[in-house]
Amino acid sequence: MSKVLVTGGAGFIGSHFVERLLRRADVEQVTVLDALTYAGNLANLKAAQASGRFKFVHGNILDTRLVGKLVESHDAVVHFAAESHVDRSLFDAGRFIATNVHGTQILLEAARRSGVSRFVNVSTDEVYGSLASGTATEQWPLAPSIPYAASKAAGDLIARSYFETYGVPVCITRSSNNYGPRQYPEKVIPYFVSRLLQGRALRVHGDGRHLRNWLHVEDNCAGIELVLNQGVPGEVYNIGGGHDLTTNELADLLLRMLGADSSMVEHVPDRIANDRRYAMDWSKIAHLGYRPTHDLEYSLASTIAWYRSNPAFWQHTPVSGDVAALGC
Ligand code: NAD
Repeated sequence: MSKVLVTGGAGFIGSHFVERLLRRADVEQVTVLDALTYAGNLANLKAAQASGRFKFVHGNILDTRLVGKLVESHDAVVHFAAESHVDRSLFDAGRFIATNVHGTQILLEAARRSGVSRFVNVSTDEVYGSLASGTATEQWPLAPSIPYAASKAAGDLIARSYFETYGVPVCITRSSNNYGPRQYPEKVIPYFVSRLLQGRALRVHGDGRHLRNWLHVEDNCAGIELVLNQGVPGEVYNIGGGHDLTTNELADLLLRMLGADSSMVEHVPDRIANDRRYAMDWSKIAHLGYRPTHDLEYSLASTIAWYRSNPAFWQHTPVSGDVAALGC
């Protein structure tokens, strides 16, 4: 694994993953392909840009020729690029299908033609849909409820078909909800934090009893790196093991950490098709040696500190108003 192409590397998780790869001596080059949509930010790659082994290409994964050329000159692809915000998919599903389904197929086709040694498709626990009980293993049926999750499930199935049909060495990772520095402020944790930093009330959807597993972005990246190096082609790996919290519990914790009280919570109507409960079994990746290491309160405190000292990242950001946040 000497030259790695990372799609969507100017986004939240991708940019942390790029920094992680560049810390490895056996990685000769890391190239980011990113369209710099509203969610992409070159400033996220500031540390990476200091490395002589890093290259940035501004381009779209829907550009077949560009993708073909880039994939050909790399040994492995780690595919993060996506439309990633659930709420936006409720209003613009077509964009999600284009990037998350067609874009994924374009990358896989390029991988098939050039014969990369590994293709990691980065996906989500949302493909399993809402679980009334139990925990989803990788064999759990895919039952996405919302267009974002359906587009990710479709990408996963196409990736699987490229392994079964053409032998492309695909691995799929499905993680729970990530948090950490540099997450776009439409997602629930930075959305809540930035509102509280501005002295504004949190908006909690519905009864606030939706359950999510909160995973620090560095733990997810450690799992993805493990799959890149040791995953078995054709296999799916759930990455979880963070902390289970309802939205109410998350809001209470952030209120306490930011010195506010429950008068700073507004309940607003629930989002359409808001999944009640995500829960995954991640014992398969644990057998590869994966262990999440981030303590929730400690890591939330450092995440809050990052948003406090980087107001330019979230001030003046057009988030989608009342429908922003909740869910991934
Ligand atoms: P993000 O929205 O922060 O970043 C997405 C990046 O992809 C941006 O830099 C954007 O510019 C780029 N991009 C979008 N469309 C593109 C296109 N057509 N061509 C090239 N680049 C394009 O997303 P994130 O939160 O970092 O998520 C990364 C991946 O992880 C996604 O595939 C997402 O589905 C998955 N995931 C995210 C979470 C989470 O909690 N954030 C959880 C599980 C899985």
